[in-house]
Amino acid sequence: MPLTCGKCRSANVEVQIPYARMSLCSKCFVDFYLARVKKTVEEFKMFPENARVGVAVSGGKDSAALLHALRRVYPDLKLVALHINLGIPGYSDHCQVKVEKLVDILNVELNVFNLQEELGIKIGDFKKTSFKNKLCSVCGTIKRRIFEEMAVKAKVQVLATGHNLEDVAGVMFNNFLYGRWDQLARLKPVLPPLAEGMASKVKPLIRSPENENLLYCLYEDIPFREIDCPFSKRTGVRKRTEILEAIAKHNPYFKHQLLNRFLEIIPLLENVSPKPPLGRCKVCGFPSSSEICAFCKRTSLIKRLDKA
Ligand code: SF4
Ligand code: ZN
Repeated sequence: MPLTCGKCRSANVEVQIPYARMSLCSKCFVDFYLARVKKTVEEFKMFPENARVGVAVSGGKDSAALLHALRRVYPDLKLVALHINLGIPGYSDHCQVKVEKLVDILNVELNVFNLQEELGIKIGDFKKTSFKNKLCSVCGTIKRRIFEEMAVKAKVQVLATGHNLEDVAGVMFNNFLYGRWDQLARLKPVLPPLAEGMASKVKPLIRSPENENLLYCLYEDIPFREIDCPFSKRTGVRKRTEILEAIAKHNPYFKHQLLNRFLEIIPLLENVSPKPPLGRCKVCGFPSSSEICAFCKRTSLIKRLDKA
């Protein structure tokens, strides 16, 4: 019997959704994708009424799909795209061009932070420090901080990021193996603001698998980066994500199951690892649980190099 779309019954089946045992045509896939984004936003009450929402866009497929989907699902939502140019040769400018194309198509305001122009540092500078083999880790710390600051400057109440199902399931698995309960709690779909006047952080794609974000971009002709970051590494988290993929081959619903169990135990996690109230960094005044925040510790390494 020829395969037909599980929704409209047309014969143009293009996408298999193994965990839902469903085959879809391209149009029904796009509807299915958008409906899940909407359901996730509403399930976790991500956007308070009249909120101005910032979307952290890297130029990659996940955040590009997120910005596009939010515009489609919520045409009246006040959206602003936030992008950081990390100064990575041959990569960062390419990403910025893709982001500029996307916001043009969607008619969304764009704020860009150029790391080199604003702070005089580039991610590659960290090759000369003890972080030389951990550029992604230092890059992550810097991006998290800059996006927090950009969100305040852009006066957004919510900052949405493109973390997908595999990002969350992979990091979850890793933190679980090492018993890092406080870091596990950071994977929650909604994180409250670090301090008054700052934005809450939300993950509307937490239920969206990576390959479906890619398909959505392809079907909707969304511009996204075509090259990989030259500093990208096969990290421990990525290796463990491959383990999850291997299990998912036998049980396509596995990653969703993992996420669902995680969502169930979130309230318990907060009791297992109560957080000390955040103080302020002595150097920059940003909310921090240590005297000097992770951002200042890292950027001071580059400043010291400049002085040497
Ligand atoms: Fe930063 Fe690593 Fe991503 Fe490159 S691959 S942009 S260094 S986090
Ligand atoms: Zn600081």
